Amino acid sequence: MNTTIGILGGGQLGRMLFQQATNYPVNLTFLDKDINGPCGSICRDVVEGDPMNYEDVLAFGRSCDLVSIEIEAVNTEALRQLQEEGIQVIPSPDAIETIRDKGLQKQYYSKYSISTMPYQLIDSEKPKDFPFEMPFVQKLRQGGYDGKGVQVFRTKDDLKAWFAEPSLLEEAAKIQTEIAVIVGRSPSGQSIALPECEMVFDPVYNLVSHLQMPSSLDRTIQEEAKQLAIQVVEALDSPGIFAVEMFLLEDGRLVVNETAPRTHNSGHATIESLSLSQFDLHLRVLLDLSLPDVRINAPAIMVNVIGSGKAGKAKIAGLDDLSALPDVYFHWYGKFQSKPGRKMGHVTILNPQNASEMVDTVLNTIQVTGE
Ligand code: ADP
Repeated sequence: MNTTIGILGGGQLGRMLFQQATNYPVNLTFLDKDINGPCGSICRDVVEGDPMNYEDVLAFGRSCDLVSIEIEAVNTEALRQLQEEGIQVIPSPDAIETIRDKGLQKQYYSKYSISTMPYQLIDSEKPKDFPFEMPFVQKLRQGGYDGKGVQVFRTKDDLKAWFAEPSLLEEAAKIQTEIAVIVGRSPSGQSIALPECEMVFDPVYNLVSHLQMPSSLDRTIQEEAKQLAIQVVEALDSPGIFAVEMFLLEDGRLVVNETAPRTHNSGHATIESLSLSQFDLHLRVLLDLSLPDVRINAPAIMVNVIGSGKAGKAKIAGLDDLSALPDVYFHWYGKFQSKPGRKMGHVTILNPQNASEMVDTVLNTIQVTGE
């Protein structure tokens, strides 16, 4: 009999999970406010409701054998109730709560001696004395994403942009490069880390512009990154799929920046590049299947396709030219509305000869705007 898996959220991560799930004996159903979103446009089992609403999550979860997530803004109280009623919840509500509050997340790193940048938690008010010299970073404890909710103060003048909300202050990292490792941990307790990727950020939108897999780092750092990522996930003591983002500092130290309790943008290249994608891994974790050693089939770069120009009905240009390029894989997220900065799709290129040239070619070829 097929297992019915309920996913809270119906965005592009859910959509790519659904695409992979068609190969497994499962029924996937989603709870989302927008039944015509990325999942709704390819899956008929999208239930209209708010993943943050207690009643909606409870009613939805009761129709499932197990519940998982593709966003962390979910009602964890309802997830606890579902667990009490015998429905499996992956990842655990505790893990979701720890991670989605950046303050609790940092305290958890401290508790388990996981290296991270020095920080201090603060209330909404600007303190009289700052714990760090400028430049330093302010991060909202809750609700930030894609770099929104993070700001660097370099001068006194920058402080005008102070977020008057509970936040944390963090020493500015001297970053050599940013990497991310996807870890899967099965309910039976097996953990595997996928090969790390290296992220390059868009200076305007402060979100990942492109990434490469594997990273350009040497083997010992690659191994260290995987071990650190597994340490983070094992300390959380929850099954699930997690993305652990790290900084490699200029002095050669690796520190954990943040963790997501779900599949992640930094893992998209895994679809074509690896012998097991992050979505495949998520499904194996949910079904408690064995987790294999994972190989890199081909090195890859992944470029986000980000909406530009004006907001409106999404219009895509350049798909025909992109299709003429060898070893290029296009993923469309099925969002009807484009707006500047919105992730509308991504492109993976295998075996790139010259990575940065290829990124420019893709960015100059494919464009999504609103009409
Ligand atoms: P989000 O949850 O919005 O992705 P992050 O905490 O990952 O926020 O921060 C977004 C980006 O801001 C990071 O990828 C990094 O480039 C930069 N950043 C975050 N923390 C620091 C820091 N302590 N020092 C320097 N840059 C940082």
